[in-house]
Amino acid sequence: MLNLEKSLAAFNEAKTLMPGGVNSPVRSYANVDCNPPFIAKAKGDRIFDIDGNEYIDYVGSWGPMVVGHAHPNVVKALQEAATRGTSYGAPTLLESELAKLVMQVYPSIEVIRMVNSGTEATMSALRLARGYTGREKIVKFIGCYHGHSDSLLVNAGSGMATFGVPSSPGVTKGTAADTISVPYNDVEAITKVMDEMGDEIAAVIIEPVAGNMGCVPPKQGYLRKIRELTQAHGTILIFDEVMCGFRASLGGAQAAYGITPDLTCLGKIIGGGLPVAAYGGRRDIMMKVSPAGPVYQAGTLSGNPLAMTAGIETLKIITAEPEPGEADYSRMLTLKTKKLLLGWLEKAKEAGVTIQAHQAGSMFGIFFNEHEVYNYDDSCASDQEAFKVWFKSMLEQGIYLAPSQFETLFMSGAHSDEDIDRTIEAAGKAFKAVA
Ligand code: PLP
Repeated sequence: MLNLEKSLAAFNEAKTLMPGGVNSPVRSYANVDCNPPFIAKAKGDRIFDIDGNEYIDYVGSWGPMVVGHAHPNVVKALQEAATRGTSYGAPTLLESELAKLVMQVYPSIEVIRMVNSGTEATMSALRLARGYTGREKIVKFIGCYHGHSDSLLVNAGSGMATFGVPSSPGVTKGTAADTISVPYNDVEAITKVMDEMGDEIAAVIIEPVAGNMGCVPPKQGYLRKIRELTQAHGTILIFDEVMCGFRASLGGAQAAYGITPDLTCLGKIIGGGLPVAAYGGRRDIMMKVSPAGPVYQAGTLSGNPLAMTAGIETLKIITAEPEPGEADYSRMLTLKTKKLLLGWLEKAKEAGVTIQAHQAGSMFGIFFNEHEVYNYDDSCASDQEAFKVWFKSMLEQGIYLAPSQFETLFMSGAHSDEDIDRTIEAAGKAFKAVA
């Protein structure tokens, strides 16, 4: 039995200090009926709690830790950078360096603006789309999460879905009225909305691989249809690649599916574990951003030198040319993920448990569901009780997973074959516990 005594005491104290004891809801483990381990440190693919337990980590800080925790290149660069000061609030060479690294793999991004969180990136991209088009309405997809800005907390997934709240008190009716939500992977639904009101819609924002209703890739041709519809109506297409960026493929979902959006939001990986996100895209649109244009957006710590440094080092690792005969970083992650999921599928079958396993590059997840999962309703119809049992068994066995079926898991370059084998073995026991 896992000993989490110190974590429990720490959690009880934290609950007197912070809402629910946490600074972001899903960390509270509320929907798996257990207390969260409090983390002391992490290295490579391992995460260690204050009770001395060690876990193989597939959360990776919810996506950013693609090269593993405390990668020596990142740590060294950060240590050196810190001695030069932690923030200047003035232009630096580092910002242009990170911008160029991103643009190298995201050719659709002609001009970029760095911000501090994915929430800021999507919020700013929407303001820009509204400013550019002079229209007010936006379309989002049910179960897609784009951060917690007001107009996007309408039928949101992730933490919102986990806690069964479709939207949040505090979001005004007026704001929500400008947000139209349609089911994901449903061509008919988006076609109907665009046919009826396309000319009033400033932007369609989508997770091109959904990661906040569990991992749900788009059906074949779905993104292309959305691109055609938005183009036909002069609506800005925003790909929120905060999660799937550099993961669905090195160039994200847009490279994987061959679709060019007008604007892209990035986050997580581009900060290498520090708070960085960005939005960027077509030059004519981005040049409307202040001070080049009239759409206001700013940030005291935006482009912060430490954060830029962590992002630069991380991107240098994942974009490096592979050794002759070796797979590039992104391909290597995809292969590791495939191995893990095939192992899980086999173990589930042996235990007589039906699961749906989804993968998009190094993003992955499973649903306890007899049927295929294409959207938020399908995801909700999955067996949450089975998930709880599976999750707890995995945690007991030293496998650290996201405590919700509405979240996605992430592979890193630090996950060794041995650790993946161990994770498959653990899954075998966990599926037996579910059966
Ligand atoms: N967009 C997507 C697709 C996300 O997954 C997230 C967070 O998980 C966000 C936006 C919000 O990013 P942040 O938590 O950095 O504000």
